[in-house]
Amino acid sequence: MPFSQLGLQPELARAASAANYVCPTPIQSKAIPVILEGNDVVGAAQTGTGKTAAFVLPLLQRLAGPANKTRGLILTPTRELATQVELAVRKYGRFLKLRSTAIYGGVSQRLQEQALRKGVDVLVATPGRLLDLIQQRCIDITAVEIFVLDEADRMLDMGFLPDIQKLVKSLPKQRQTILFSATMPQEIRDLARSLQKNSVLVEVAKHQEAPAGVEQKLYPVPSHLKSDLLAHLISREPMNPVLVFTRTKKGADRLHLALENRGIKAARIHSGLTQRERQEAMDGFRQSRYPMLIATDIAARGIDVQNISHVINYDIPNNTNDYIHRIGRTGRADKGGVACTFVCPEDEVFVRGIERSRGEKIQRVRLDDF
Ligand code: AMP
Repeated sequence: MPFSQLGLQPELARAASAANYVCPTPIQSKAIPVILEGNDVVGAAQTGTGKTAAFVLPLLQRLAGPANKTRGLILTPTRELATQVELAVRKYGRFLKLRSTAIYGGVSQRLQEQALRKGVDVLVATPGRLLDLIQQRCIDITAVEIFVLDEADRMLDMGFLPDIQKLVKSLPKQRQTILFSATMPQEIRDLARSLQKNSVLVEVAKHQEAPAGVEQKLYPVPSHLKSDLLAHLISREPMNPVLVFTRTKKGADRLHLALENRGIKAARIHSGLTQRERQEAMDGFRQSRYPMLIATDIAARGIDVQNISHVINYDIPNNTNDYIHRIGRTGRADKGGVACTFVCPEDEVFVRGIERSRGEKIQRVRLDDF
């Protein structure tokens, strides 16, 4: 589903395209329409799920044109996150005329004050510095219409609850409140209840949860025989649709060519291709013109194709999160799915890492000749 179908105005859908996003991630598909309707939202999502765009895009749309007062306030636990989120506000708001700035401690206040004097529509801030500036009357948050708490669980871990409570006293009662958190312990639910009215919960599966019903297999293989192994597996068992992961764009291109030379049809998607090429690949895969899609991790993030029978880790991912995320693309309601990971001798260290953090061994399949 394209971004425009979520109800986003053309300027925002265009900004998503310009960021090379082909389709929304699951948290974006769920959260964007609900936020656009003006609801209070609790979003349960971790970093890496596309959660920032899930609240920034609809926030920008709801604020529409500049009004010379701060109407959007996003609180983050750390200055790194504040900077990152403010960059996202700029990136997604590039075709709108809204002004934003980031306010955080540990640096001189002067430049931040200057930015504030020029007028700011969207403020991204850490709680401590924001309170200081409010007390010094450099910031007025009494006209805020949308208030976002990002990584709320981390904020509580860092002891920001009293600051948040103080800040909320300066906010208008009539406002939209959005809270994102990777985990949902009781304190977060209590916080949400104290800040929100009739909130809607949107959540996506956590990375760490291995999807149920996915058969996982490791295939030891020397590096130069990987494309032979892939061709062999495809010829041996029906796989359709199949999603193949490579670590790099070059690797995706190389594999695409190797398969083409064998007469195997595959689409490919990575950030080195034009938006149009990526869209064509996605459409071709979704409409079954291509039974196979070769993708890099970043490009695969927004892929929303259902019923993938096999995920092939042609190159093993170097961390468990990516592994779980990738294999979670398969797993069909009726039959479950299969995740095959190719393992070269130098990849054993990654296998050990994945097995250790999951607390279980993955079965090895040895094919002596194929
Ligand atoms: P976040 O979870 O917000 O930290 O986002 C993680 C990464 O995903 C960021 O690098 C985003 O640029 C990227 N991203 C967000 N939405 C999409 C999308 N729809 N398609 C591809 N990448 C995305």
